[in-house]
Amino acid sequence: MNCEEYLARDPSLVPIARQEEAVWINSRLLPYDMTKGISELVVSDADIADAAARLVRFAAFFRRAFPETEETQGIIESPLRPIPAMQRALSETYGADIPGRLYLKMDSHLAVAGSIKARGGIYEVLKHAEALAVDAGLITVRDDYAKFAEMKDFFSKYMIQVGSTGNLALSIGVVGAALGFRVRVHMSADAKQWKKELLRARGVEVVEYDDDFARAVREGRRASAVDPMSYFVDDERSRDLFMGYTVAGARLQNQLEEMNIPVDADHPLVVYIPAGIGGSPGGVSYGLRRIYGDDVHAFFVEPATCPSVLLGIATQAFEGVSVHDFGISGRTEADGLAVPCPSGFVTRLMTNQAAGIFTAIDAKLYDYLRLLDESEGIRIEPSSCAAFVGPLNLLRLPAAQAYCAAHGLTPQRLAASTQIAWATGGGFVPNEMWTAYLATYQ
Ligand SMILES: *Cc1c(COP(=O)(O)O)cnc(C)c1O
Repeated sequence: MNCEEYLARDPSLVPIARQEEAVWINSRLLPYDMTKGISELVVSDADIADAAARLVRFAAFFRRAFPETEETQGIIESPLRPIPAMQRALSETYGADIPGRLYLKMDSHLAVAGSIKARGGIYEVLKHAEALAVDAGLITVRDDYAKFAEMKDFFSKYMIQVGSTGNLALSIGVVGAALGFRVRVHMSADAKQWKKELLRARGVEVVEYDDDFARAVREGRRASAVDPMSYFVDDERSRDLFMGYTVAGARLQNQLEEMNIPVDADHPLVVYIPAGIGGSPGGVSYGLRRIYGDDVHAFFVEPATCPSVLLGIATQAFEGVSVHDFGISGRTEADGLAVPCPSGFVTRLMTNQAAGIFTAIDAKLYDYLRLLDESEGIRIEPSSCAAFVGPLNLLRLPAAQAYCAAHGLTPQRLAASTQIAWATGGGFVPNEMWTAYLATYQ
């Protein structure tokens, strides 16, 4: 089908094709009980527990190699912060009613990688390193994983490659280099210069393309395939990346419990997570659904100029659709979200699980960035700022209001809700870039 046919079949895509600030509500969302059995086959609770256990094993390595993780005993996890001043500032500035309490999940400040990619990207590198070391008889899963800090000679025979718009390369480059791997990253034209420089400073080989993410991945996959010592982290297809992201579900549950924040039918949880290829928001919301079922409402957020996950799910063409098919450029200031074709795995798996997808206008990202800085003294990168369009528009856009009405999100329940804007990046942004970001008006 072409764009006109898709639009005729699903008129809710018309504002998306016009690249407006909009919401697309997922009419294929099913009650959790109906998706539970099928998804258990694809990614089970045991699989998620296995991934969580692997991260616990590697905690000793992180304490050794990254002393900044000492505070959290070698576990890479981010704070969940109430942001009442930002909630007020958003309401006043945009005349929006934002019910419940608004929180910021600060994956922007995750140790080691400074973005949500610290969940998936690092996890996949660890899993690969563990498999190589166990195969070579250098370690068993019962040993002290601090030993991984002393295997640089062994890992220097191996290479890891990845295609990235920036942050995935950062997470893989930093942890890969710390283990001793040779790392080559294939960067799309959207990648910010400072990210390339930071990687080169860590000894990572950076290959640049004057083209989009899809091309960078294709070239990286090809380069890796011809080298038997090379492993490719494939953001378009990887299940391991996804597994790393799912662990966030149980981690967030612990935080909510520690903070005495209830989640149940009368205290719903609404999350808004920026999406590029879909892996990180998909994995996180999948992990949350396994825990909270229908009490969590998982919305993604994409740039109005690059709504690829939205189109992948809405058209059911999955990885077979590109934003270009809708005459949309795919170019955006939100470099972390500049992915023209979505993940086939995630768009299929989330078809019956995602609540919907909000789109954000580039020009407003810098306004949100300044507002958060002024109100809360927190800085997150433009891609992350897209998350704020969710709480702003939940009660403003008629389609989102209709979602609330249809899913038991009554005014009373919304008043008792926890809303989380998921901050996905920003921890590594250098000072001179903040100066530039804070002064950007579009
Ligand atoms: C990568 C990234 C995302 C989206 O993750 P995907 O797995 O590509 O969907 C969101 N925000 C930032 C800052 C990112 O770097």
